[in-house]
Amino acid sequence: MEICDRCEEQSKKTRNGKPHEQLVKVDEVRIFTGKKPRGFEEQDYQCMTCQSKFTQSTDKNDLAWTLWQG
Ligand SMILES: [Zn+2]
Repeated sequence: MEICDRCEEQSKKTRNGKPHEQLVKVDEVRIFTGKKPRGFEEQDYQCMTCQSKFTQSTDKNDLAWTLWQG
């Protein structure tokens, strides 16, 4: 499955980037409290157009938007 243009752009977004309108949340947010000084959260999304999956992370040491290519 080809990645759609919106997901192509989404993969380049920064931490403050919002999910595009065809991305829907998958599962609940995962909250990690173990890291100092603050915990971080991860949320999975899936695109209704091209079925690509993303994980959004607030971890400063991780990519904000990670694209999982299937
Ligand atoms: Zn897409």
